[in-house]
Parts: sequence; structure tokens; C-alpha cells
Amino acid sequence: MGKFTGKRALVTGAGAGIGRALAIKLVEMGADVFALSKTAANLESLKAECPALTTVCVDLSDWTATREALKKLTPIHLLINNAAAASLDPFLTATPESFDKLFNINVKAMMNVSQVVAGDLIAREQRGSIVNLSSQAGQRALRDHTVYCATKGAVDMMTKVMALELAPKGIRVNAVSPTVVMTDMGRIGWSDPAKSGPMLDRIPQGRFAEVKDVVNAIIYLLSDESDMVNGHLLPVDGGFLAC
Ligand code: NDP
Repeated sequence: MGKFTGKRALVTGAGAGIGRALAIKLVEMGADVFALSKTAANLESLKAECPALTTVCVDLSDWTATREALKKLTPIHLLINNAAAASLDPFLTATPESFDKLFNINVKAMMNVSQVVAGDLIAREQRGSIVNLSSQAGQRALRDHTVYCATKGAVDMMTKVMALELAPKGIRVNAVSPTVVMTDMGRIGWSDPAKSGPMLDRIPQGRFAEVKDVVNAIIYLLSDESDMVNGHLLPVDGGFLAC
């Protein structure tokens, strides 16, 4: 028996990076896992690597298609809103296209998916746990990250309102706020040593986070071991946000 045996888990953005590792970990821990992402090839290789999970190919920026896909998956007891997009946007040149794209995926889709999942659980009178992927970027200004930082600030406050409104119905909601992780997304902002060096200097532990550091924090927040933790933004940042 795994810790999550009997639980149905949905991981968004499971095709790559943190979400992919998390989906595999949740299978190992006994959950029935639904791995949702938009690029079919990534989901095919995930399914080949971990045949026990179920893949769901949908573009989260499509509100209606997302709802239709989710209706077939409920009930979901463990939801990880992990999918996100990033772009480099200095403030003076940030574009409306970048704004709309990032807010659509990083914030609006989080609301959409969570409404369906939480609404269904409440109707069934079942308990659940939701973890939203935020970032240190939600709490600290990062140069050239205008739109991304703004989306993660929005994620932080949406997490708190969700926690406020859903906890009385038996659904806890928390977020994790990692520092840089060298996934495909991490490489967008931090491959250049001229940028990564000064960032590393601001992290007391002197390193970026590994995917497994973030996965372990999410597992804690999903599990009953964090049963009294609600509305919390858990840094996984080697101390960056403490300074
Ligand atoms: P990756 O870019 O490695 O993976 C993101 C995943 O999200 C991909 O599987 C991608 O899909 C999926 N995705 C993106 N857009 C959509 C969409 N429209 N519909 C469905 N799926 C989509 O990111 P990370 O693993 O690095 O990041 C995961 C989370 O952690 C994000 O919320 C990110 O903001 C956060 N984070 C990341 C940090 C970092 O440095 N990497 C630091 C702090 C927070 P597909 O593969 O199908 O194309």
C-alpha cells in the first residue's frame, strides 16, 4: 500500500520538467495518476516510461476544451496545478501577447481546472488537497521577468483565496515557491552564467533547486502529514526569500 493508494491525482504540465517527475513519483506512491499536457510526443514518451499512468492531451489555454477533458477524470482528490509558461520581458518592452499568453496558462487555467476539480469534490462531499506551483518570482522582483513575476504574484493570492473558501469544504490549498530549477523553463532565464552567477550568490545554500527538491515539498503538502497546513506558500529556495 502506498501513501496515496485509492487517491486520484491530476498533474498539469506533466509532459516535462517538475510535473513529469511528480507524476511518476505519485504512481510509485500508489495514486491513480492523470498526466495532462499539451504536446502529444511528451505524453507518449511519459506513458512509455510509466505505463501505469493515464495521459490527457489538452491545451490549458483553451477554457472549454479543458473543462470537457476534466469532466471525464473526476473525482480528483490530489490536484497539482503545475503547468506554466515563461518569457523574458523587460518592463518597458513587455507585450500584450506575452501578457495574455502567460496569464492565460499560469493563472486563468489554474482557476479553471481548480473550479472543476473542487466543485466536483464538494458535490461528492469528498476531501482533497491542491498544490499550486508558484515561484520565488511571486515575492521578489526578478529583472526581465515582468509578466512572469506578475503571474506568480497572482498565483500566490489566488492560492490564499482558494484556501480561505475551500478549506471549510474539506479541500486544503497550498503553493510551493521554488527558486531556479534547471528544467527547460529554468534554462530560458538562467543559462547565461552572467545571470545565474548573481542569482546563486543570493541563495544561502549556494545552489539551484533540483526537481526532486520541489517534488518532495509537493508530496508533503498533498499528504495528510500537512493536514493543518492551508493557504501556505512554501519556499523551496535554499533561503533566497528569507534574505
Ligand atoms: P517546463 O517548461 O519544464 O514544463 C512545463 C510543462 O507545462 C510542460 O510539460 C508543458 O507542456 C506544460 N504546459 C505549458 N503550457 C501548457 C498548456 N497551455 N497546456 C498544457 N500544458 C502546458 O517547466 P518546469 O517544470 O520548470 O515548471 C513547472 C512549474 O514550476 C511551473 O509552474 C513553473 O512556473 C514553476 N517554477 C519553475 C521554476 C524553474 O526554474 N524551472 C522555478 C520556480 C517555479 P508540454 O510538455 O506538453 O509542451
